[in-house]
Amino acid sequence: MEVRVVNHKEHDPQQLIQTIERLERMVAIGQMLNSTLDLSQLLETIISTAAELVGTQAASILLMDERTGELFFAAATGSSREELRKIKVPLVGSIAGTIYKTREPLIVADVSGDARHYTGVDQSTKFQTRSLLGVPLLVRTRCIGVLEALNKINGEPFNEEDIHTLSAMASHAAIAIENARLVASLREANQRLSELDRLKSNFISIASHELRTPLMIVQGFASFLREQASGDMTSDLDMVLRGASKLQAIIDQMTNLNYLEAGLSELKQEKLIVQELIAELEEEWRPLAAAKQQSLHVNMPPTPILIRGDRGKLILAFSNLLNNAVKFTPENGRIEIHVILHTGRVEIAVTDTGIGIPKDELTRIFDRFYQVEDHLTRHHGGLGLGLAIAKEVIEQHNGRIWAESVEGQGSRFRVILPVLFEHV
Ligand code: ADP
Repeated sequence: MEVRVVNHKEHDPQQLIQTIERLERMVAIGQMLNSTLDLSQLLETIISTAAELVGTQAASILLMDERTGELFFAAATGSSREELRKIKVPLVGSIAGTIYKTREPLIVADVSGDARHYTGVDQSTKFQTRSLLGVPLLVRTRCIGVLEALNKINGEPFNEEDIHTLSAMASHAAIAIENARLVASLREANQRLSELDRLKSNFISIASHELRTPLMIVQGFASFLREQASGDMTSDLDMVLRGASKLQAIIDQMTNLNYLEAGLSELKQEKLIVQELIAELEEEWRPLAAAKQQSLHVNMPPTPILIRGDRGKLILAFSNLLNNAVKFTPENGRIEIHVILHTGRVEIAVTDTGIGIPKDELTRIFDRFYQVEDHLTRHHGGLGLGLAIAKEVIEQHNGRIWAESVEGQGSRFRVILPVLFEHV
């Protein structure tokens, strides 16, 4: 914003004092811009200050309504505000419209002799416009409206200093309006996002619930038939059962995340020994790794490490890490679990020699439904929820989880949990 002090007579101290006062008022408005988000209050202050500084009877701000292509009153001094709010000012055949289109300040010393004057406003408000100074409201190069000062009180014509003062006020107003619009559109986008999030959560809980019952029927009957079957039928039914349990795992993941996120599932506060948890996981995952000719190595200190938490949920979180380690590591790969005691915390790291994760994806993989591979060209199954669940569980336990990786060489998922200072 450029504020030029023009025409001040250097030897007239009165004039100089007035100019300084004007500048002080403008600075005060600038400060107000940063301290209030109430747009209408801000615009009211801007126009009343504008009227006062330029020495006019009234002032108003007209903004462009993008839908109708007409100007409307966003703020006005005086008692006719309510009537003014209802009035639309056309771009063609109005002084405000001319300023809007030309983006130039305009002085009209006598509106009665100006064909562009739109008489509709005065008729509705009973206000008699005689002279007028208007400046465009510019946001960068875009014009969003017009600031007008009406009827110079001292009877003198509008001068260049008035144009500069009003232009400075207009740029304040333009910034305030633009800020308010940005805040409003952010708020709206935020609301839309939370609504979508709510819909998604609802959808997941309905879908997982509705899928569970028919799946149980498939599983029940397939197991029953498997017991009776012989010959080729046996392997066919094994395939059905494997498919059904994969589906079951997917539904479990969906339900788990929803429950965790909504805080619907209570966190148990059991005393747990880390080594026992890991041993349980090792027992479950050793055969699954072996099925891919992968070796599983566990390294933990002998002294029991105590933590407080929910056994089932922690097993779920670490199972997800091990599931990924097995899934994203080729045959003959190596998977390691390390337990390290630090001061006040325990670190549990799951390392693999798999495909690795690109550097710029290392934090995003913890987002819900996020997968590094494109879903159209994916080689590995999964919903992209395993790590989101693991993160939620670990954070509920006041812990931290993050990933480190070298692409093509392997990944390490590190979990830190607070330890309990008690003897077992
Ligand atoms: P899912 O495994 O079901 O796709 P996750 O949330 O468990 O979902 O993991 C998200 C993504 O992170 C995976 O799709 C994969 O791209 C990447 N990822 C996770 N763990 C590993 C790993 N050990 N090695 C390589 N990539 C991994």
